[in-house]
Order: sequence, then C-alpha cells, then structure tokens
Amino acid sequence: MKRIYLDNAAATPVDTGVMKVMNATVKKFPGNPSALHKEGVMARQAFEGTRGQIAGVLSAHADEIVFTSGATEANNMALQGVVRHARTQGIIHPHIIVSAIEHPSVLEVARMLKREGVFVDYLSVGQSGVVDLKELRKLINSETVLVSVMYANNEIGTIEPLRDIAKEVRHARKMNNSSYPYFHTDAAQAASYLDLSTPSLGVDLMTLSSGKAYGPRGIGALFVKRGVNISPLMYGGEHEMSRRPGTEPVALVAGFAEALTLAQKMKAKEFARVQKLRDAFAKAILKKIPNSTINGLPAQAGDLEHALPNILNISIPDIESEALVIYLDAAGVAVSGKSACKSADDEPSHVLTALYGEQKGEKASVRFSLGRDTKKQDLDYVVKVLPEILKKISIK
Ligand code: PMP
Repeated sequence: MKRIYLDNAAATPVDTGVMKVMNATVKKFPGNPSALHKEGVMARQAFEGTRGQIAGVLSAHADEIVFTSGATEANNMALQGVVRHARTQGIIHPHIIVSAIEHPSVLEVARMLKREGVFVDYLSVGQSGVVDLKELRKLINSETVLVSVMYANNEIGTIEPLRDIAKEVRHARKMNNSSYPYFHTDAAQAASYLDLSTPSLGVDLMTLSSGKAYGPRGIGALFVKRGVNISPLMYGGEHEMSRRPGTEPVALVAGFAEALTLAQKMKAKEFARVQKLRDAFAKAILKKIPNSTINGLPAQAGDLEHALPNILNISIPDIESEALVIYLDAAGVAVSGKSACKSADDEPSHVLTALYGEQKGEKASVRFSLGRDTKKQDLDYVVKVLPEILKKISIK
C-alpha cells in the first residue's frame, strides 16, 4: 500500500541531494578536525566551510554558530547557559520568561530551573496562539535575563511576532541599562518556510534543527550573537569555542548546511504551494466532518500569513485521537494526534490547554503536517477515508 506521510512537523525525510553530500563528505574527510595532520586539516577546512555556509543563511558570523545534537540540546543550552552565566555575574535568582506554548525542551528546562531558584513567568497566548506583547512588557523586570518565544509552534503552526518581541526586549535593556534580557527563539519549525536572517529578526539566540528541514537527524545549532554570554552545559574539550565539547560530526554538519541552504532557497515557492494545498484540505474537512474545528490562527482570523503553511490542527468531537492516528495509519496515512482534554490515560496538549483552558468532554485533536512530497491526491484520499474511519471510532 502507498503511504501518505503527513507528519512532517515531527520529522522530514532526508533530501536525496543532502544524502549525496553527506556520503561524499564521509568518504572524503576521514580525519578528526582537531588533528594536526593533513587528514585533520582537510576535515577542519571542510567543517569550518559548512559552518560559514550556515552562518550565511542566518546573515550571521561563523563564530556565532554552535553545533548541537538538535533543537532539544540547543534549547537547553540557551536557557541553562544564560542562567548559569548570569549567576556567575552575581544574579543569583534570575528571572526568565517563556511562552506557554513552547516545546517541552524549553518548558521542562524552565520547570527544572524554577526548582533551582530561578523565577519563571509564562507568557500567555490568546485563542489564536499569539503571545501578548503588553503582557510581556509588564512581566519584564530588572532581574529578567531571558525571554524565550518560539518562532513557529509545532502543534498549531502559529508564527510569533519575533520582531515586535525583540523591540520590547531592546526597550527593556535600555530601561535597565543592562545587556539583559536576551531574546531567544526556537526556530526548529521555521527553516523550511520562514526568513532566518538573525539581524532582521532581532534575536540574540536562535535554535535550529536539521531534522525538520530535510536534513539528517542528530544535528542542529544554536545561534549565539557576538557579545551574548552563555556558560557551557558540558565540559571536556575546547570544541565550538569551548561551548560544546566533542569531536565534530563533519558529514552531519555538511548535510545540515546543504539542507538548510536548499530549504531557504525553496521557501517562498513551497510556502505558496503547501498553503494552497492545506487551505483546500481544511475546507474539505470542515465541510465533511460536522463540528470539526481548526485550532490556531488560520481558524480564528483567516490570518494565514501568521501561521506556517504546512500545519493543520483539527479538533473532532466524540473520538479519541489515538484511535484516529491508528486507524489512519492502517489506511496508509501517517499523522500525529493529541487529546484536547484530560482523560485517565491521555495527557492533554499543553498548547491547546494554553489556547482554551482546561476542557471538558471528549474532543480529540489531530495534526496533519504537509511537506515537500505532499500532493493534492494524497489529501483527497484522506478526505475520502476520514468519514468512514470516524464512524468506526466514534465513542458517542
Ligand atoms: N522545538 C520544536 C518547536 C520542535 O518542533 C522540536 C521537535 N519536535 C524540537 C524543539 C526538538 O527538536 P530535536 O528533535 O531536533 O531535538
């Protein structure tokens, strides 16, 4: 049976050209970039070349890129690294602000830091999923060292107003006459569709993940603007300007650079193509499935410019999302799902809870995330099989 993959927000398939670059790099550069011999020097040159390529995509300097194992590590590095460094400066109980709809690799770190004596505030979002700038202004105080708001949400696709947040953060720095707070964004979901120019976005730290941009998994980066101080999470080597020790993965980084360059080159065309598919798909589902609703911005305001083009998060009454995921899988369709309410064995989505508060009654949500390989026929097929499946799994 042909598979229809609609879980591109969880992982994108690796681009064939990217695989070729990685294969060639593995073969050509066997040495450790830190070694003094020819093999080492060649590996170092290749590695630093690809660092420069990634910096170019971000309109950044090469020394502002720290490679990590992915977005989870980059988010940890940003939050823990900033807090630890602030403590070395005598700020013993720093304050951080994170949005309520961040990925767990931000939220769980914030929770851990809170247990260690850090003050944490959660920036709320409206039903559209967009953070409130006025609330942000009220929450920032003289002890605030970090504001972390994601670029685009992985469950509902909302794009946050990074430039406006950056303005608030700069204003606060001026008022505090301090280099704090810093502004961090998790851009893991953004690379295939949105501008990544760091000076234009106004960010001090930015998280990237190769595995969401048609590159290999297990590699990502944290952009750290010159002058921004973070303490390392790990010790044991001078790699990555003493910010992240370990032998450099030359081929993974080459694949990441190729994927990112390609994704950014394709982004305008892909945005328009995928958005058109998504919108027709959304319309068809809403028509066929009574009482289904879209979660996030596209639904609220028809404000499609402020949402990623590839994500469609739909709530459907009287079903369990796990059942829907399993039945769709059996019909050849890969999607991701979460309940929007608390039942005994099912944790609610913290994102949907942030949008609507705690909900009563069964209302499951399912996330369709389209990608480079998605075709209209794939979505037509889903629209065709969905009503039959829903009849089978209804718990009414
Ligand atoms: N942040 C966001 C917004 C994500 O969507 C993900 C992946 N689901 C991550 C962080 C974690 O990424 P990685 O798997 O590269 O650690």
